[in-house]
Amino acid sequence: MSERTFNFSAGPAALPVPVLEKIRDEMLVLPGAGASILEISHRSKPFEAIIAAAEANLRSLLSIPDEYAVLFLQGGSRLQFSMIPMNLAPGGASADYLITGTWGKSALDEAKKIGPARVAYSSAESNFDRLPTPDQLDLDPNAAYLHYTCNETIQGVQFATEPKTGDVPLVCDASSDFLHRPLTIGHYGLLYACAQKNAGPAGVTVVIIDKKLLERSADNLPGYLNYKIHADNDSLWNTPPTFAIYVLKLVTDWLKDDIGGLDKMYQQNKTKAEMLYEVLDAYPAFYQGHAQPACRSLMNVTFRLPSDDLTAKFLAEAKEHNLADLKGHRSVGGIRASIYNAMPVEGVVTLRNFMDKFANANA
Ligand SMILES: *Cc1c(COP(=O)(O)O)cnc(C)c1O
Repeated sequence: MSERTFNFSAGPAALPVPVLEKIRDEMLVLPGAGASILEISHRSKPFEAIIAAAEANLRSLLSIPDEYAVLFLQGGSRLQFSMIPMNLAPGGASADYLITGTWGKSALDEAKKIGPARVAYSSAESNFDRLPTPDQLDLDPNAAYLHYTCNETIQGVQFATEPKTGDVPLVCDASSDFLHRPLTIGHYGLLYACAQKNAGPAGVTVVIIDKKLLERSADNLPGYLNYKIHADNDSLWNTPPTFAIYVLKLVTDWLKDDIGGLDKMYQQNKTKAEMLYEVLDAYPAFYQGHAQPACRSLMNVTFRLPSDDLTAKFLAEAKEHNLADLKGHRSVGGIRASIYNAMPVEGVVTLRNFMDKFANANA
């Protein structure tokens, strides 16, 4: 296959075409560096300019206050599942977790290996199709932090606003909806996202942390696992993932210059998601949405068809329409359309029209 498809992969996921073109154009010689981005020191002037610009772009897009550090780490979001309790819950302090899907459950399982962790809410009984109302939260006012997953990538449920936690620092896994809308960073103690869903390629994870919380990182933690060491060294304590940070810098350039900021990105994301949910609602017996309507994700649209045969037929015919990677995760089944920032409106229109036709032909 030599043509690009509309790629609905959940991650690593589609990147904006202008970003890919820029990478291609700069592959042999990064301007001013005399070599490829893949071949230069992380302590060189050109790379220092790139990591500084990546951070400045994030600070500008999300209005990140000076009281927060921005870190570029490796190990993916899964390493954060361990680093968070190691750093933020020292001395056997207990942490609270909201479990609204597979990733939140994985975060809890890792935290339990480090110290005490409580379930403050779980929607496991209904196969993670919903989110808590404020009165359903069973919060520990003395918790070291409260961890939640703002968008559950596999189930397709997404918080529209942050849960209220009083004085307990809010820790958010924003891996699959990072940069899809503006945020008030001041509401969070720590927010993290691996880049490969919505912000860049695999290899870098962004951690935005209230500098006050850095005081909790104990000196006896292994160096790489200590947030304070990374913050004190501007993410250059060891060799950072230079290529991934370069691409993240280009993606954030694209968000600022081509899209025009996160308000505009959010409008586009809402438009795209609404198109697909309208089709689900038009054929409710045929397309059965996984998420309760009030909790639907703008990033991952999950639904089932009436039979496995129809699901297979849907996937095969979608491919003929240039629509790729729509198979749902095995724990939910059916179809998952991941429509991150880089999915063009045109791709969603093509999918919407295909779904309409497919329902009419097969319902
Ligand atoms: C993909 C994903 C992860 C896992 O990220 P890795 O980089 O593979 O460790 C964690 N949380 C959420 C919400 C995700 O979507």
